[in-house]
Amino acid sequence: MANPNFLVVAFPSQSHINPALQLTRRLLRTGASVTFTTTTSAHRRMRGFQASDRLTFATYSDGVEEGSKPSSNSLEHHMDETARRCSEALRQLIEASRDKGQSFTCIFYTAVAPWLADVAHCYDIPSVVLWIQPATLFEIYYYYSNGYVDNITNESNGPSSPTQLPGLPPLTGRDVPSFLSPGSPFGFLYTLIEKQIQVLKEDRRPRVLVNTFDALESEQLKAIDELELVAVGPLLPSFVGQDSSDTSLGGDLFQGSRDYIEWLDTKPEASVIYVSFGSISTLSKPQKEEMARGLLSTGRPFLWVIRKAGEEKQEESEDQLSCEEELLKQGMIVPWCSQVEVLSHPSIGCFVTHCGWNSTLESLLCGVPMVAFPLWADQLTNAMLIEDVWRVGVRVKGNEQGVVEGGELERCLELIMGGGERSEGMRGNARNLKDSAIEAAKEGGSADKNLKAFLEEIASS
Ligand code: UDP
Repeated sequence: MANPNFLVVAFPSQSHINPALQLTRRLLRTGASVTFTTTTSAHRRMRGFQASDRLTFATYSDGVEEGSKPSSNSLEHHMDETARRCSEALRQLIEASRDKGQSFTCIFYTAVAPWLADVAHCYDIPSVVLWIQPATLFEIYYYYSNGYVDNITNESNGPSSPTQLPGLPPLTGRDVPSFLSPGSPFGFLYTLIEKQIQVLKEDRRPRVLVNTFDALESEQLKAIDELELVAVGPLLPSFVGQDSSDTSLGGDLFQGSRDYIEWLDTKPEASVIYVSFGSISTLSKPQKEEMARGLLSTGRPFLWVIRKAGEEKQEESEDQLSCEEELLKQGMIVPWCSQVEVLSHPSIGCFVTHCGWNSTLESLLCGVPMVAFPLWADQLTNAMLIEDVWRVGVRVKGNEQGVVEGGELERCLELIMGGGERSEGMRGNARNLKDSAIEAAKEGGSADKNLKAFLEEIASS
């Protein structure tokens, strides 16, 4: 029988492309051929990833190269347009491979893209979602779309009366993804998730591949009987526990100066605070000023990734921090860095993170405790997991205006960096989870076993 031929479709953002590439890497390791597809503009940023006899890159335009750059208020329209273009590209790819006598065995796609399931269905090809967030989150959405709306969004879900959904940790109002809050401007994203869940329900055997690992969410992975969540993670780029002889797709999307690594090399072990808010989010000017105040008051060295709010030219005063000179005496500010390399550097003692799922997993894998500073969406749930379930970090509290003040940040940082029983407890938990993550990700570990069982099922059905 010919080797399987898979199609992997990644939504064009770094937090989708990274895990999708690592899934591709695992599929290639089984001897399969893979076609990886994303938009032309996203593919252009993926320099260093080479095609081979079993790996093909196929791209499609989402209009960005032709000048239709999405603004936040046209995001919904942009998503529709991406869906239309992506579906069309997928049809062409499927037909071309069929004409060559190399039909796809299965289509893997990063959530959320229910339209891709429709296309796959038309051609009678199995398809499966790669969920790039924790299992806990998928299940909150699943419960929400299955009659638990009131339990989840009940305003009285405070710390003393959290909602208890079967198989999940107790949830208060601040742990629930912000798309589900009444009046959220991003409610349309939940509509997509709901469609995705509907697609699953119509499946004879609903299954989702999840970028998590068995030891991390053992209860949550089994919470819902009628739904099989298959843990195939951690799917992370070029990390410490990986077999270094296997360099296929082990690259990093980062290209640029690495001066900060030399700077980290000069710092004592576990002494540096790393601060980053991911590839999409930026802080408001007042919040940046408070962050600066908090960092300065610790007196500790820090590496802070500050991204530009957009490519549009900003006023100088918008970008400039009032205490920039003092900041640069104590720490280093960079526009982007190779995050996994930073987190695995021995000098890093703590990560101030927006709790994006990739950042959270990367920190777990490197055994670095976190100050959880969630901004929106899934980050709120991830922060709860970090603080309450895994106990590997502390979550910040905002003031009445929602701003996290410098003093609060200093308090959280000192809880982690200042030694003491709680700090030691968090470091110990982080070390244990690091070991489990490496175990899950190694060749033949739980991620490989679970994926292999899934592939065998596909082949026999
Ligand atoms: N990242 C990076 N360098 C940076 C900031 C972020 O390489 O300076 C990477 C990070 O390692 C992670 C991804 O960007 O893999 C961010 O994904 P995440 O899910 O944490 O957040 P999002 O960007 O989706 O909000």
